[in-house]
Amino acid sequence: MQTVRYSVVVPVYNEEAVIEETCRRLTGVMEGVGEPYEIIFVNDGSRDATPRKAEALCRGDARLRLLSFARNFGHQAAITAGMEYAGGDAVIVIDADLQDPPEVIPAMIEQWKAGYRVVYGKRLKRKGESLFKKVTAKLFYRVLRAMTDVDIPVDTGDFRLLDRRVCEALRTLPERNRYVRGLVSWVGFSQTAVEYVREERFAGETKYPLRKMLTFAGDALTSFSYKPLRLSIYLGALLTAGCAVYLLVAAVLWLTGRPAPGWVLALPLLADGVILLALGVVGIYLGRLFDEAKQRPLYIVADTVGFDQAPVRAEK
Ligand code: UDP
Ligand code: MG
Repeated sequence: MQTVRYSVVVPVYNEEAVIEETCRRLTGVMEGVGEPYEIIFVNDGSRDATPRKAEALCRGDARLRLLSFARNFGHQAAITAGMEYAGGDAVIVIDADLQDPPEVIPAMIEQWKAGYRVVYGKRLKRKGESLFKKVTAKLFYRVLRAMTDVDIPVDTGDFRLLDRRVCEALRTLPERNRYVRGLVSWVGFSQTAVEYVREERFAGETKYPLRKMLTFAGDALTSFSYKPLRLSIYLGALLTAGCAVYLLVAAVLWLTGRPAPGWVLALPLLADGVILLALGVVGIYLGRLFDEAKQRPLYIVADTVGFDQAPVRAEK
C-alpha cells in the first residue's frame, strides 16, 4: 500500500447539502499539492443522506475514506477519531461546510515544511454569521484565555494542521470531555498561525445550536481553568474580612456607649463568609483531584538527541 503524506480529516454531521462540493474542492486543492494524501470523512451519526453520499464518493476514489459513528458523539469526538485513523505524516482537520477554505491548506503545509509542528488557522473575519455568534465567540475566546494558564490562541478553531507526533501526543491524553484545540495548545510543540477569512457556510444550517455551543464552552472552561473553583475563596475572604472589620467597629461603638446599627446583620454575614471560604478550600482539593482524574501525562517530549533507546521505566 502506498504511504500517505497528508490526511485530511472532515467531521460530517447531516452535511448532505455540502459533502459533494467539499469533496470536490478538497480533492482539487490536495491534487495541487502533488503528494500522496487521503481524505477521511468522519460521519458523526448523520441522519440524512450524508453517509450514502460519502460512501458513493469513496467508491469512486481510493483516496477517500469514511468512518461512521454508531450515533452522534459530537464534533470533538469525530475530530479525535479522524486523527487516530489518519495515516499521514501531517493531519489536517477541516470543517465540512467550507467555512474554512481548503485553499488555505497549501499555506499550512508550507509552514509545516518550514518546521512547525502545529499550524492553526486564525480567523481574521467571520462572514455571514449572526452578530450574536460573532460577539459570543469573540467573548468566549477572550474569557477562556483570561481564565487559563495554557496559552490558547484566540479566534482559532479546529481548522489546523498537526504533525504526526502531535497526534500521537494527543492520544496519550485520555480525558473524556475533550476540547481538542485546548489540548493541542496544552501539548505544546512549535506552533504558528496562518490567517484566513472565515467564509459563509456553503449550504445547510449550523450543526451547533445554542445548547451545543454552551456545552462546548463549558467543556473548554472547566477542563482548562480552576478559576471558577477559586471564586468562592475570593468571595468568602472578602465577606469575612468586611464583616469582621465592621463588627470590630460596632464593638468599639457599643463599648463607648454609642449606637452600633447593623451588627445583627453583620454576624450572620460573617458566618456566610466563613462557609464560602470553607467551600473554596474544598474547591482547591477538588481541583487537584480533577487534575489527577484527567490523567494527563506529566510532560510531552518533542525531540531527543543522542538517545538510542526509549527511557527505562520502572514497572508498575
Ligand atoms: N459536526 C459534527 N458533529 C456535531 C456537530 C457538528 O461532526 O455534533 C461537524 C459539522 O458537520 C461541521 C463541523 O462539525 O463539519 C462544524 O460544525 P458547524 O459548521 O455546524 O459549526 P459552526 O461553524 O456553525 O460553528
Ligand atoms: Mg461551520
